Amino acid sequence: MTVLPLVFDAPRRGLPPRHLADLTSAERAAAVVELGEKPFRAKQLSNHYFSRLTVDPEAMTDIPAESRQRLVDELMPPLLTEVRAMACDDGSTRKTLWRAHDRTLIETVLMRYPDRATLCISSQAGCGMACPFCATGQGGLERNLSTAEIVDQVRSAAAVMRDGLMADSTGVPTPGRLSNIVFMGMGEPLANYKRVVAAVRRITEPAPDGLGISQRSVTVSTVGLAPAIRKLADEKMQVRLAVSLHTPDDELRDTLVPVNNRWSVDEVLSAARYYADTSGRRVSIEYALIRDINDQPWRAQLLAKVLKKHLGHLVHVNVIPLNPTPGSKWDAAPKPVEREFVRLVNAGGVPCTVRDTRGQEIAAACGQLAAEG
Ligand code: SAH
Repeated sequence: MTVLPLVFDAPRRGLPPRHLADLTSAERAAAVVELGEKPFRAKQLSNHYFSRLTVDPEAMTDIPAESRQRLVDELMPPLLTEVRAMACDDGSTRKTLWRAHDRTLIETVLMRYPDRATLCISSQAGCGMACPFCATGQGGLERNLSTAEIVDQVRSAAAVMRDGLMADSTGVPTPGRLSNIVFMGMGEPLANYKRVVAAVRRITEPAPDGLGISQRSVTVSTVGLAPAIRKLADEKMQVRLAVSLHTPDDELRDTLVPVNNRWSVDEVLSAARYYADTSGRRVSIEYALIRDINDQPWRAQLLAKVLKKHLGHLVHVNVIPLNPTPGSKWDAAPKPVEREFVRLVNAGGVPCTVRDTRGQEIAAACGQLAAEG
């Protein structure tokens, strides 16, 4: 083994060079013309990337060889290299570790169900929100991902599904379609606002301008950056909003979700109400249930009351049994406590279900993504 001098090992942290998937279709046409090519080459490139899901120049036989190389060099720089993939749940859950151009590491998790396939994507490398029960939060923020780095996670998974590389719920690899996207991987999507919104547009625009996934099948999950939630509402998209609430009272939430010191439960939920009213969609509330921390019956009752007050019928609670993370003393609430919690929230008039957790044994479950090389 050769040991490289440390200088080569030093990380070069930064956004990647411009990529086709960073640009709107008008910007792509302009970029192609700037390179001395005909504008229709932009459509051809987009077709390869967004419809055929390929970045291989050899496959782009409709573009003359010399143009092809220049266009690919300039508009399709390599973004994410697969470092490792791990599967569990009979092959129907798959976690992939990716390396970006500057050696930054991120993770995605693909989950196939009988009726859908959901990809959990990252919006940042690391996360700056410092929630004490989340492995990503413990490592701090490395950097934002570019729009194209977010989109490329989706392109790769769409190709994996199409090519039949993913087991269905009976454990047999068969072709399928990537149908749902959740921004529940590494990072706080609304802290990388502009790039995330552009990525949602690119993911949901019909092919060949985008990947053609329905906006209604995309979920943006946030710790509750209230002004950004309102701004997202004003984008007038159909994406689902999920808010990681974890407790209805400010006193505990100040410690579980430190950004609560800036925007309180009240402010977060009134922003969520604005989102629900503007989009006409129910908001999901995420609640990681932690033994003896936020699992008390009185908190379940208070949760229902607070949610009814702010959101009326426009809300649904997803309870997530806490997944273990390295170095944390916390664990999930016992099943009987969890059942009682769910019962009380429902009894308080707010629909509440337990989220099926996948991928715990490969550290792919909610809050376990640490991207360790
Ligand atoms: N920053 C965004 C996106 C991450 S989503 C957000 O917080 O919403 C990941 C979801 O998993 C969030 O609801 C988060 O609170 C939850 N989560 C984090 N750590 C967890 C853990 N150890 N067990 C269960 N859920 C966890």
